[in-house]
Amino acid sequence: MSTGKFPTTTINPPVSNSPVMQPHQPFASARMQIPTRQAIALISEHGDPAAEIGKDAAGGQNVYVRQVGEALAKLGWQVDMFTRKSSPDDATIVQHSPHCRTIRLTAGPEAYIPRDEMFQYMPEFVAAFQKFQQKEGMSYPLAHTNYWMSGWVGLQLQRSQNLQLIHTYHSLGAVKYQSVTEIPEIAQTRLAVEKDLLEQAHSIVATSPQESDDLEALVSKIGSIDIIPCGTDVSTFRPISKSEARKQLGISAKQKVVLYVGRFDKRKGIETLIRATGELRSHLEQGEEIDPQHLKLLVVGGSDPNEADGVERRRIEDIVAELDLATTTDFVGMVGHDRLALYYTAADVCVIPSHYEPFGLVAIEAMACGTPVVASDVGGLKFTVISEETGLLVPPHDVSKFAHAIGRILTDDIWARKIRKQASARVHQNFSWTGVAIQLSDLYRRLLAQSLLSPGVARGSSATSTLLPKQAVKAS
Ligand code: UDP
Repeated sequence: MSTGKFPTTTINPPVSNSPVMQPHQPFASARMQIPTRQAIALISEHGDPAAEIGKDAAGGQNVYVRQVGEALAKLGWQVDMFTRKSSPDDATIVQHSPHCRTIRLTAGPEAYIPRDEMFQYMPEFVAAFQKFQQKEGMSYPLAHTNYWMSGWVGLQLQRSQNLQLIHTYHSLGAVKYQSVTEIPEIAQTRLAVEKDLLEQAHSIVATSPQESDDLEALVSKIGSIDIIPCGTDVSTFRPISKSEARKQLGISAKQKVVLYVGRFDKRKGIETLIRATGELRSHLEQGEEIDPQHLKLLVVGGSDPNEADGVERRRIEDIVAELDLATTTDFVGMVGHDRLALYYTAADVCVIPSHYEPFGLVAIEAMACGTPVVASDVGGLKFTVISEETGLLVPPHDVSKFAHAIGRILTDDIWARKIRKQASARVHQNFSWTGVAIQLSDLYRRLLAQSLLSPGVARGSSATSTLLPKQAVKAS
């Protein structure tokens, strides 16, 4: 997407005066126009919307589901967000606002389970969801599922109830497996479920035109795709005074600050950034433009020493030591959204060196604060970052090109100032959560209206069988 224009072509106009239905009898009561909130289910098996953001399992998906959920509730829906309970200490129901809550279902042990081992518990998730509906005496007419395993849950529900199924992939196996060396055992199952979802869900919400193209080229030509991007909280992430932000964080005006925000995960490409910082420092040592002592790399993001992200963090720390960058690099740890805007604002450039990035919330958060972005020319970043206007796009893995791009922004103050303005304007115009929720809301209303016109026609009902997790196969 080179024009930066927001795609609207696939989004149908909202259905006006669509009926508001009672949760208990969603279809029967439609004609009565009872002003009750329509209940909808957002399902996110591993991205707990009530979890702390920035930890291994908690990344963009958590933020997406939580923010979309809260914004949809403000637009008049009753939003129930379902996730897997991963600790006995976690509350079963967390009420975020009067009409938005997280419901944690027991599926498998109430403990952390790596994503690659979670699919076997999905039949239990389906059963727990159905039990919850029974207990509440209702049946959700619409579910928006997130990530392929929740999507599988949605496909099963679609067979037993009249359900409009909307799915967001967040990460696409067909793309992801092109950029990793170790393909997990679950890969074949995931690819098959992702294909079923595209062909059987009522709508796939792709978060960028690139994702839509990938789906068509790599997954299936059959399917209905609506492009609705991710968003950001533009009241939290907005331009504030850089000197004030630096004062609050104890960063001097002289420093040239390069920022990374995100999880410790190999596909995030932190190694590329560390090596690029080393190359940039060597370059600065030979010139006079910037004192190499003033170069600072801030790495923001959480890690748990016992989990996968802890291993990646230790690997990154070793590279920092090997390149003698310990005095240049600060590992800040996890920072909440309440303070993250200070880091984005204090930085001269935010770098997103991912090998693969389905959307990349960090890019729009940084740009919303007016911080230029240097990002890999991949996935959603190709769509959110406009090279030369809101930052620079660089081929993934290319250490020298990253070093050069970061250096360009650090040494050209006038240009960087222009980028700052353009970056924040782009996000405020195109990527607010409210704007995203309005588009989703219109899509939900359109699908619900369609289901009223032709009740009983569930896209998945006539579909071929989706692969079952081992446990379900054994049980059947
Ligand atoms: N994040 C955060 N604190 C941290 C690190 C990350 O709040 O210390 C948040 C970040 O602000 C963003 C999300 O985690 O909202 C990461 O989303 P993104 O789409 O960039 O990456 P993902 O984790 O989904 O791969």
